[in-house]
Amino acid sequence: MDDERASAKQPHRVSWVPFGLHQQHPNNFKDILDAVWESRDNLGYAYRILRDGCCDGCSLGTTGMHDWTMKDVHLCWVRLQLLRLNTMPAMNWRLLEDVAPLRRLKGKALRNLGRLCVPMIRRRGDKGFRRVSWDEALSLIAERIRQADPHRLGWFLTARGVTNEAYYAHQKVARFIGTNHVDTSARVCHAPSTAALKETIGCSATTCSYTDWLGSDLIVFVGANTANNQPVTLKYLYYAKKAGTKIFVVNPYIEPGMERYWIPSVAESALFGTKLADAFFHIHVGGDIPFFYGVLKHLVANDWIDRRFIAARTVGWDELETKVRALPWEILERGAGVTRHEMHRFAEVFGRARHAILVWSMGITQHRYGTDNVKAIVNLQLAGGNVGRPHTGLMPIRGHSGVQGGAEMGAMPGAYSMNYPVNDANAALFATPDFWGFHPPSWKGLGAAHMILAAEQGQFDILWQSGGNFLETLPEPDRVRRALGRIGLRIHQDIVVSSTMLEDPADLVVLLPSRTRYEQRGGGTETSSERRIIYSPEIPGPRPGEARDEWEIPVLVARQLDPGRAARAFPWRDTHDIRQEIERVCPTYKGIAGLRKKGDQVQYGGPRLLADRFGTPDGKGRFTPIDLPEETIPSGRFFLTTRRGKQFNSMVAADVDPLLGAARDSVLMATEDAARLKLNAGDIVILRNELGEYRGRVVIDRVKPGSVQVYWPEANKLVPAGRLDPSGVPDYNATVEVIPACG
Ligand code: SF4
Repeated sequence: MDDERASAKQPHRVSWVPFGLHQQHPNNFKDILDAVWESRDNLGYAYRILRDGCCDGCSLGTTGMHDWTMKDVHLCWVRLQLLRLNTMPAMNWRLLEDVAPLRRLKGKALRNLGRLCVPMIRRRGDKGFRRVSWDEALSLIAERIRQADPHRLGWFLTARGVTNEAYYAHQKVARFIGTNHVDTSARVCHAPSTAALKETIGCSATTCSYTDWLGSDLIVFVGANTANNQPVTLKYLYYAKKAGTKIFVVNPYIEPGMERYWIPSVAESALFGTKLADAFFHIHVGGDIPFFYGVLKHLVANDWIDRRFIAARTVGWDELETKVRALPWEILERGAGVTRHEMHRFAEVFGRARHAILVWSMGITQHRYGTDNVKAIVNLQLAGGNVGRPHTGLMPIRGHSGVQGGAEMGAMPGAYSMNYPVNDANAALFATPDFWGFHPPSWKGLGAAHMILAAEQGQFDILWQSGGNFLETLPEPDRVRRALGRIGLRIHQDIVVSSTMLEDPADLVVLLPSRTRYEQRGGGTETSSERRIIYSPEIPGPRPGEARDEWEIPVLVARQLDPGRAARAFPWRDTHDIRQEIERVCPTYKGIAGLRKKGDQVQYGGPRLLADRFGTPDGKGRFTPIDLPEETIPSGRFFLTTRRGKQFNSMVAADVDPLLGAARDSVLMATEDAARLKLNAGDIVILRNELGEYRGRVVIDRVKPGSVQVYWPEANKLVPAGRLDPSGVPDYNATVEVIPACG
């Protein structure tokens, strides 16, 4: 690729019109002004959080406004948008005494009420919440837990802002009580990545670092829109392109942000824009496996594979090669939605590249065959020998700062902590004084989606939710509502009001006000996508009402339940004590105990993993001859898939997606489909299936014909709840009729 790399070092301007004034794209400078305005009552604190804290947004990770990839400023609209959650004053808690008016408010208006500041309870039949003391709230919870069967008790933690110390404390308390029904938001995003990577390469983390992007021949984004979800990646891509890196995007929609962007921290790009993707591969929704099989078929036919690497470091190639050779092109083309020539175009660049990195996200994982999708990516990278060397790697890029650490700290049903799966032997190990000194349960717990399905059947009595909002994140909200209505005690530990809290109690709902990571005594750590454990210090500033540290709240319940045992199991005074225990219990996190001040960090495994041996028992990477998925779309229907706009998880920040200029009710549709249905841009359509109807406006755009894209979570009412990947991730896709409507 040397010639191509040399010629690629040209500027990739979008146009000479300054600031892209004639084109639709986010206005990052306005976002800065908006953030300043929103936090005008607390500007000094806001500035200290930005200057000294570790970003609580996505999982790139910062220390203040800098990172470990590039020297200049690291800041984006996502962080600015979240800033107000940290700086807003305490709410008037009396507003919660009557929930009826609050139920009419949207999520943003609820958040803007201010920070939760006192414990409150609401019993069945009450019109709202009543203020109680911490002692009363904790006693009520402890009493109920004491009476409950631990198999009927679950725990869920969000991934925004939660620190490793809080994940560790919560899951340990859950096990102390006797349940393994513990889960995090990771369940609805990257659980398939964890499962597939563990099985194939013996390690579920990203194998490389962001610095590897700079100097790689090829970076491929599959089902990922980092322009929207990890905006600072675009700065890395700008400099990677300057150095000659090619960027490919495999996606059913030509994402405008991945095509070109005005990167605010790069003067030239901020002025004239930067063309990013060198090629889009416009596949069907769910066409990833046939696409990558087609690419592999070309790689095999042209011998563009790394046979030395395959022979020395992997197993299972022969079976896969036999399968690939036998797969008919017609089936692959039909499944992928692109021609064999397109697959050849990809294969030729990939096969000739000395190094390539594959980055993927929820476009890959949120399918009922998400785990197989990830295995298809692993097959490709192993065939190219693209693991363990500089500028190569597998990167499941995380959208939230807590996703990586949450799972590694054991806030998942299948493990007590990283490398210790739930089983009898590990339960016995954790019962020893060197670990926890109490016997955790060894039965397999449920993930989040399964917990709600079980609650719907009346099989759950208690659900502790630390953040999160099931009503606005899980498929079929009406079923979620019914399920929540059957749980006797719901505990909501949070920083702001959410719609799920306002659902009527089956018996009792308790609100517990929590502190943010910046308010927590002793600070806290997060683990970024590149496995960097980053310390975020406590930031001096106001503290809302009676809110308590996030890690401490479940521990206080444990101390109420059984003071003697809890004193031995949870002797912690602050997060420093927890980090010391994590270092002892989770050897991979060696070094976390020494993190004490801004800038302190440790990247476990170093810049690159698996350089000499894979993490599987025999040290070999595993090829997988996965089956082709069978997606049948009934005649007359469209494949509906969901997308994100200006939002962070379900927290929608703007009614218009600045990348597209599209409103939240937009139904993105291909030109040929619109013509066939005689629809014009702006026409109202009804999307209908067995679950319900969704009313939206047509936006004609570059989506794959036969599919429509709508914004998440609004379209969750059309997404079936029980269709899950084996790892437990919901398949956020559906089939729908598109019906023109009047008015
Ligand atoms: S790219 Fe991610 S880590 Fe960086 S500032 Fe934005 S949200 Fe924070």
